[in-house]
Amino acid sequence: MNNKVDVDQLIASQLQTVGQRYTNNRRRLISILLRSSKPLSINQILDMDPELAQSSAYRNLTVLEEAGSIARIVTSADHARYELAEEILEHHHHIICSPCGEILDFRLSDNIEEALESSLQEIADQLGFTLDTHRLDLIGTCTLCKDNS
Ligand SMILES: [Zn+2]
Ligand SMILES: [Zn+2]
Repeated sequence: MNNKVDVDQLIASQLQTVGQRYTNNRRRLISILLRSSKPLSINQILDMDPELAQSSAYRNLTVLEEAGSIARIVTSADHARYELAEEILEHHHHIICSPCGEILDFRLSDNIEEALESSLQEIADQLGFTLDTHRLDLIGTCTLCKDNS
């Protein structure tokens, strides 16, 4: 899904199911996340729109997370990053820098994703689970942190 109108309609209806409205400030947060190619920390979000107030940005991100429109990724460094829900962004994985908390998105090739999915399906079967999706994060050290050490 990449049509802005469809995204707005989806988010408006997700918000409605939790009794919330798609306010101006929430639209601004979504448009920042739509423009970004990677998950963003609250500070990075505020840098991209200096008119957003930190306290209301926090509140609205929490509401959007409750509505299922965005996902919060907690890194080992405990710096949360936000991104649009997979329903909007499409399935992908993360690589996380443990020293600084930087997160990049990546996609596996269809072949590898299918092979991974079928291995994981076997595990879920063995454990008696119905599989909805999976998450796979790689943890390491980014170029910047490597150069600074
Ligand atoms: Zn780093
Ligand atoms: Zn995957």
